[in-house]
Amino acid sequence: MVARPAIFCQVMSDKVEGMVSPSVDLEPWERVWREHRVAWKSMVKMFLAHVASAPPVSRPSRSEAGFQPVPRSWPCDECTSVFASSKAMWSHKMAKHGHRNKYRLFVVGVVCPSCQVSFGTRARVIDHIAHRCKKCKLVADSGSLPQVPEAILQVLDAETQAARVSARKRGESHLLAPRPSAPASLLVGAPAVGLH
Ligand SMILES: [Zn+2]
Ligand SMILES: [Zn+2]
Repeated sequence: MVARPAIFCQVMSDKVEGMVSPSVDLEPWERVWREHRVAWKSMVKMFLAHVASAPPVSRPSRSEAGFQPVPRSWPCDECTSVFASSKAMWSHKMAKHGHRNKYRLFVVGVVCPSCQVSFGTRARVIDHIAHRCKKCKLVADSGSLPQVPEAILQVLDAETQAARVSARKRGESHLLAPRPSAPASLLVGAPAVGLH
């Protein structure tokens, strides 16, 4: 997610035109947030609605489908549940999978702020702290890590959601995101204690 967040720029118009991801450079995003506080919230909301409602890219066209209505479904990318609306899917993710994970407050980029290991995506870093590394979780719980400013958090969360949605539309689960640079033994299946 180091590339320019294209959909975000498209929806949020000229104010974020040409800006790189906040995981690369926070400052311009903070400036937009300070100068356009009123517009900011609705822009983020608009972006999230856009991401949630955009049809899957692999969806058959009307002609391919023989003009039959194509039933739309929203599968959860973290379990086997399927939902009839994106709203239902997201509320399931928040309720069942801790989508609004509190550890996201500490994660800006793809590197764990506690152990400095790179995990390839921000979502993986959050997962690492929340579920896979007791030591980093303890550090986060101790309150010694700096918290990401609220405005930046909104952009990062929007990017993370967009990445998950586009991965799902490509038919991939979030687990197929780019492989982290850390040794595989640090990530899956290894005991969470004593990794460091
Ligand atoms: Zn689920
Ligand atoms: Zn860590």
